[in-house]
Amino acid sequence: MQNKQGGRSVAVIGGGPAGLKAAEVLIQAGVEVNLYDAMPTVGRKFLMAGKGGLNITHAEPAEIFNSRYGARRAQIKQWLDAFGPAELREWALGLGVTTFVGTSGRVFPAEMKAAPLLRAWLHRLRKAGVHFHMRHRWKGWAEVGELSAKQMAVCFNSPEDEHTIHADAVVLALGGGSWSKLGSDGAWVQQLTQLGIPVSPLRPANCGFDAHWSEHFSSRFAGQPVKLVTVTFADSAGHSHSRQGDLMVTAGGIEGGVIYALSALLRDEIASKGFAEIFLDLIPGKELTRIISEVAHPRGSRSMSSHLQSRANIKGVKTGLLRECVPRADFDHPERLAAAIKALPIRLIAPRPLDEAISSAGGVMFEALDENMMVRATPGLFCAGEMLDWEAPTGGYLLTACFASGYCAGKGVLEWLQNKPSQS
Ligand SMILES: Cc1cc2nc3c(=O)[nH]c(=O)nc-3n(C[C@H](O)[C@H](O)[C@H](O)COP(=O)(O)OP(=O)(O)OC[C@H]3O[C@@H](n4cnc5c(N)ncnc54)[C@H](O)[C@@H]3O)c2cc1C
Repeated sequence: MQNKQGGRSVAVIGGGPAGLKAAEVLIQAGVEVNLYDAMPTVGRKFLMAGKGGLNITHAEPAEIFNSRYGARRAQIKQWLDAFGPAELREWALGLGVTTFVGTSGRVFPAEMKAAPLLRAWLHRLRKAGVHFHMRHRWKGWAEVGELSAKQMAVCFNSPEDEHTIHADAVVLALGGGSWSKLGSDGAWVQQLTQLGIPVSPLRPANCGFDAHWSEHFSSRFAGQPVKLVTVTFADSAGHSHSRQGDLMVTAGGIEGGVIYALSALLRDEIASKGFAEIFLDLIPGKELTRIISEVAHPRGSRSMSSHLQSRANIKGVKTGLLRECVPRADFDHPERLAAAIKALPIRLIAPRPLDEAISSAGGVMFEALDENMMVRATPGLFCAGEMLDWEAPTGGYLLTACFASGYCAGKGVLEWLQNKPSQS
């Protein structure tokens, strides 16, 4: 049957937000769309994001929003200009899901869940004609290096067999390499590298870090939140970066929102120097001079712990951190102790493994793509989502860019198909 795109058929591989969005753009243009995913169901990471409330985007001004993508802001701005936070909220509304702006500017669905949104979206995609092929793991091309100018031959492993399908264009939206149990395992890195497509190694982003905790500290405080601290880190160029919020002590180090926000810098510092030193201000609201006088106050027969608690409101895990990171002798010197309370040094020695991270840095390099997100060296092959070489902090920036890239890849395919001679 002929359709608006002359009977063209596109394979979208990967059913996360990026692949589903590309599929949506394509089906709306009348292209036949077959969507393949290695897992039994699509959108597993999206659903997992929903467990944390589904921070889908952010309401801050565009300039600040774009700056969250760091070195890749120029490229990602182009995606966001086409499908940005406002369009994303409008799209959710079109699926019957209202969104609201939280106090921090983060945007969430009213129900704080991903499932209703995904359910409505899949229903609409199926109704529009998208064919879903689950448990289909992409294995590569039928003949490596022989990607036909007419059609691409794509190989899949399914529970039944290993088979090849043909498509006029392929969108790869295979995700990054974190939380591999949800489907995106980064196995594609090797496959694309073998094809000569430049891929920057996947690295953990929005991740926790290891520190040298003593057995005593780890066993007593692992899993405890450290509320309202300021974390400061000076990079090797001498720029100071600070974030305020909560963090969590883990068995081997630290994690949590305030750490994720600095994690790209910390990860890169560790990669170049072998470690990164951060400083915690345990009582951000109080001046150093004030803390010195509080700590210097005679403590009589009280223990140091109860003295710190009553004079400086330092207790529990915060006292534990001081004991862990400050030389014992400094507890007898109010100036030194107060200085440590305001700038407690913690040496981070390694990021946690990629599989534990919220997202990945690295991926298919932008230089490999043309302005339509097509791989220059492989006409007809498009990439979208977290598998591209960009990263962003948490705050809705990851999902927004994944949706936006899927939208642009879909549009890119349409433009390419329009200019491609038809099959005969
Ligand atoms: C715990 C957690 C919480 C998060 N919370 C948020 C949040 O609140 N806000 C936010 O913005 N972001 C959040 N994220 C990040 C966000 O979910 C991801 O950035 C986003 O899902 C990536 O979308 P994607 O479409 O690129 O890839 P994915 O969602 O990872 O989808 C890729 C798909 O490709 C499939 N696939 C992979 N390889 C193959 C293959 N060889 N063959 C066939 N199929 C394959 C996978 O099965 C998967 O379905 C969170 C992530 C995690 C882990």
